[in-house]
Amino acid sequence: MMRMCPLCSSDRQEVIVGIPPRQFLAMNRHCTADAIAGLHADLDTPLPLCRCAACGFYFAGSVPAPEFLDRLYACDPDDDAHASLRPDWTAHLAEVAGRILRAAATLGDSPKSILDFGCGHGALVNFLNAAGGHIRAVGFEQDASTLRFLKRKNIPVCESPDACRERAPFDVICMNEVLEHVTDPRGLLRFLHEMTAPGGLLFVAVPPMPDYHMHRQIRAIQRGERFDPAINLWEHLNYFSGVTLAKMATAEGWIPFSGQWSQDLGFRPDLRGTALVRNLLQASRLAAEAVLFSSPRITARFFQKSAARTA
Ligand SMILES: [Zn+2]
Repeated sequence: MMRMCPLCSSDRQEVIVGIPPRQFLAMNRHCTADAIAGLHADLDTPLPLCRCAACGFYFAGSVPAPEFLDRLYACDPDDDAHASLRPDWTAHLAEVAGRILRAAATLGDSPKSILDFGCGHGALVNFLNAAGGHIRAVGFEQDASTLRFLKRKNIPVCESPDACRERAPFDVICMNEVLEHVTDPRGLLRFLHEMTAPGGLLFVAVPPMPDYHMHRQIRAIQRGERFDPAINLWEHLNYFSGVTLAKMATAEGWIPFSGQWSQDLGFRPDLRGTALVRNLLQASRLAAEAVLFSSPRITARFFQKSAARTA
């Protein structure tokens, strides 16, 4: 059965293009021949990429079986060199941690509890806890092999939604590249709203998939050309633009949070000559990214839970 639209629940989904897994795996740097063999997957039957005729949201029309996803996301708990611990990814998480700490600071001086929902190998939890006594961060993960890794590293983690409930409410919840993976993103946004303190914040980062980008990728898929590796119908079930992300979050009671994106652009007026020109170019590139609310890799937004208690 074809999946309903995860944004508006309409059943007027149109299959825009079918993509055999072999075609999106060809662009995935992390998929070795051994890893793919271990998945026991049909690589040649096309999977549907759908667009909702009612609201325009793009999504995977079918959801992989839970046992298959367990095999896909399993990691070696003793492997410290896992792909998600690579230096470039760690640097990215350090930047995300800085943004989250700055946003948390706008909520006042009292101690803050933070939940990193879908924390993976826990690097973001570690960065946040490095801020010291004012910040108490905990992760959430359910994958058994990832949990073994987190425990081996003594990273605090909630292992179930009930464990999150016990620790709630959180002042800040972050969800870094998680929402595109889940079968019911609205249900998850609703759950996290319940887990958040009044006036608390939600940080969501997803791969950027604005309409013009999707149109271009779909043409490339149809012509058999290379396309954005983030279009992977096994892992990424939801394809957000900044607009559809905001639409979904506000439908679940979140309020777009403004003024959170102040960042040091690194402008150095003391420089001279070509060094100053280079510095200006770098600073304006960062400014452009800040204005677009996205880096080249992610669309990131903060949302806030209304400070007024709702019945
Ligand atoms: Zn829809």
